[in-house]
Amino acid sequence: MTLPFTIESQTGPARLARISTAHGPVETPSFMPVGTAGTVKAVPQGILEDLGAQIILGNTYHLYLRPGHELVRNLGGLHKFMSWDRALLTDSGGFQVFSLSELRKVKEEGVSFRSHLDGTSHLFTPERSMEIQIALGADIVMAFDECTEHPAERERARASMEMTLRWAKRSKDYFEAHKHEVPWNSVPALSAENAEGMGHPTAYPTAPALFGIIQGGMYPDLRRESAERTVELDFPGYAIGGLSVGESRAKTMEMIAVVLEILPKDKPRYVMGVGYPEEIVQYAAMGVDMMDCVLPTRAARHGLLFTSEGRINIKNARYAQDQGPADPKCACRVCARYTRAYLRHLFVSAEPLAGVLNTVHNLAYYLDTMRSVRHAITLGDLSGMLSGSVSLT
Ligand SMILES: [Zn+2]
Repeated sequence: MTLPFTIESQTGPARLARISTAHGPVETPSFMPVGTAGTVKAVPQGILEDLGAQIILGNTYHLYLRPGHELVRNLGGLHKFMSWDRALLTDSGGFQVFSLSELRKVKEEGVSFRSHLDGTSHLFTPERSMEIQIALGADIVMAFDECTEHPAERERARASMEMTLRWAKRSKDYFEAHKHEVPWNSVPALSAENAEGMGHPTAYPTAPALFGIIQGGMYPDLRRESAERTVELDFPGYAIGGLSVGESRAKTMEMIAVVLEILPKDKPRYVMGVGYPEEIVQYAAMGVDMMDCVLPTRAARHGLLFTSEGRINIKNARYAQDQGPADPKCACRVCARYTRAYLRHLFVSAEPLAGVLNTVHNLAYYLDTMRSVRHAITLGDLSGMLSGSVSLT
């Protein structure tokens, strides 16, 4: 079993499904909080569990530079290191190399770069990215790709896409030969709580799964070709990368729609790096199963809260004496306990608790939004979710 994916209900192209990982089930459509350096910034793992997060992301680039994947492997893998026994997905490191590192140089072999922390030289290749992700012990590993910059000329987008395809093949070859080296492989990883609802024990995997990534810039025909040729390589799941890089939302949707037509319907489909609450609802309605974004966590640290009444900036003076919760319709522990006035005070006083509470609420809002989407799919009607989400824009 590479990565069991069971579709339980469908409404139009939207699917309610379950991914069975060695670290428990992931109900989809799913929003995955980003835990860059082995931590979803400002939120303890126990609260993430209470919020219902079934899977979080780790960033390969950050964890490789600090504390180092060998150290994490020696300590039993990322699950054990960070005390998170639910599912983990790691990115390939490619995106951060392109966005954060200095003096990067892309060659056929891979990408050489200097660390943004201390200026030391490093080389990421598809093989190296697999080695690091396997050492970290993610349940879902991402192929090493080149995130095509935007805007990009057609020929540049094509060349980049072609290289991502060659790198996908190299990623897969290395991954298949080494996937059983994950730190948790020999250990029955599933706790009783995680095993709940997973069916027979043989129904979940003993090795991680590798997802291929579709690129192709903002060119529908290149996206189509990238999807067809990546599917030929046969991965247990597929991601659409290179979006939310400055293009219009209409363009993002167009690229997603083009690719979804080609991706197999019986495998998970993941759009990387999106988006606003109303966007993730739309993409789920189109048939996307997984999404991730730093937006709810990063915005929270800047005092921006997502609520059923739209986005609010908690530092605004109008909240100085507001006795209401951040979001009157939210059932999270922050909204149950604290007022906007208090959240504003914490933020303008630069108290560390501000980042914690704002992040907990924003993640609750995103995870509840996806829960509502899943419920709407079982009811067979997403129209309320879609029309409701429009008011948030
Ligand atoms: Zn809340």
